[in-house]
Amino acid sequence: MAATPHDPAAATPRRKVSRHRGEGQWAAGHFTPLNGNEQFKKDDDGLNVRTRIETIYSRRGFDSIDPNDLRGRMRWWGLYTQRKPGIDGGKTAVLEPEELDDRYFMLRVRIDGGRLTTGQLRVIGEISQEFARGTADVTDRQNVQYHWIRIEDVPEIWNRLEAVGLSTTEACGDTPRVILGSPVAGIAEDEIVDGTPAVEEIHRRVVGNPAYSNLPRKFKSAISGSPLLDVAHEINDVAFVGVVHPEHGPGFDVWVGGGLSTNPKIGVRLGAWVPLEQVADVHEGVVSIFRDHGYRRLRNRARLKFLVADWGAEKFRRVLEEEYLGRPLADGPAPERPLRQWRDHIGVHRQQDGRHYVGFAPRVGRVDGATLTKIADLAEAHGSGRVRTTVEQKMIILDVEADQVDSLVEGLEALDLTARPSTFRRGTMACTGIEYCKLAIVETKARGSWLIDELERRLPEFDEPLTINLNGCPNACARIQVADIGLKGQLVLDERGEQVEGYQVHLGGALGLEAGFGRKVRGLKVTADELPDYVERVLRRFLAGRKDDERFAA
Ligand code: SF4
Repeated sequence: MAATPHDPAAATPRRKVSRHRGEGQWAAGHFTPLNGNEQFKKDDDGLNVRTRIETIYSRRGFDSIDPNDLRGRMRWWGLYTQRKPGIDGGKTAVLEPEELDDRYFMLRVRIDGGRLTTGQLRVIGEISQEFARGTADVTDRQNVQYHWIRIEDVPEIWNRLEAVGLSTTEACGDTPRVILGSPVAGIAEDEIVDGTPAVEEIHRRVVGNPAYSNLPRKFKSAISGSPLLDVAHEINDVAFVGVVHPEHGPGFDVWVGGGLSTNPKIGVRLGAWVPLEQVADVHEGVVSIFRDHGYRRLRNRARLKFLVADWGAEKFRRVLEEEYLGRPLADGPAPERPLRQWRDHIGVHRQQDGRHYVGFAPRVGRVDGATLTKIADLAEAHGSGRVRTTVEQKMIILDVEADQVDSLVEGLEALDLTARPSTFRRGTMACTGIEYCKLAIVETKARGSWLIDELERRLPEFDEPLTINLNGCPNACARIQVADIGLKGQLVLDERGEQVEGYQVHLGGALGLEAGFGRKVRGLKVTADELPDYVERVLRRFLAGRKDDERFAA
């Protein structure tokens, strides 16, 4: 499929669209920007801000940055201003954005497919120590995120990342974000199909391509040929999941329109089977539909999930086949139920080639530059120099010979990176939270770590699969709606009637074939201080009343 030039009026096929003319779709002729975000994207492509960062802003400093670049286009290169320290969560909604802005940035490094060499990991660790006060969180989208970045240092950081094949291109913004991939692609014994070539081809076609750099909003992609369904495919805008077609063999089942945040939606299957070599075509077709038909009037209706909800899978597939691919897709089967409940690859597992991979758990994704460098040392001493990040804020070292496994596991333990984590260390994730995020209302990372410690002490016997996800605000960066216990940060009243940090509780969410959203338990809010007591009570009640081999998780 040929890429479309970045002129919406020329690029977009005009169709008769009557029902949703008011939603700002380019395909319906709405090329006049309908809100401030659409205006700044039309005024100048987000990708173009790089030149200004390199030639003006990094030389003249923070105060020289144009506000439309600062709060808009810089995201196209993975940059957000971080939260000014010392502003409590009660002020998040009442202050103007500029009052929350620190003079430092969060910078996201995209790691497509979660694939890293130790050389790349070392550079990430060195940048962290030199330019980011040691910060480097592993995110639940396989990225690494820095804080405390100065605009003056950004060009040098790009130079170092790009010298080892990494980038921050479109790590944020209304763009094709990082492409999630199975972290054990190409090595797992039970793999259906290795999606790595598709991840690479999609990256080559769409990332940094001006034809796709002005989408209605962010666009999330996921590809996994693992039977464990290990990329949270249900909550991506487009996902390709490994299946075996009865006639054609291994390939991918196509899902579209998943997403969390407000109005969460589980993606829908198109019922179409795609061979590996056609995944990039189909991906490009879906992202093009989003660009042309996606809703641009209101930001909170601009994700693909709203278009998919209005069209339905059947119409979406027909438009994809007839107007974007020019050919029909084969019908195909749905993925099968995963055999394991944990899908995070933690622990020691055999590879196809007889060697092993070792998955290990930092605490709620928090590592630091020095630790990443030591992980690179361990991976080189015990493996072949290949490392992966997972969608659960975890990491994996590949290619470990049997006689090296124990030594590696011990080395990881010494860094507080366990390959044998408790249920609580393994299943708890936390978003960035109030420490750095301007939208946050409450703290998350430190509290998640404290919760792990408390639960390990109080319930050492609990070894059921369980996910506990903490968000610092109503957004869904840590996927609270699909956790067994989802905790949405907000201010709550304590017993004295005073506002304190706390969480709205969601119970019973899940990913996998039973994917669904947790129930918001009416009125059930816990203060931050009560959190371990509350979770302990829920789990003890489950243990006391469980029948036979009943599981806590769906
Ligand atoms: Fe920030 Fe909210 Fe996302 Fe957490 S969930 S990182 S607080 S926007």
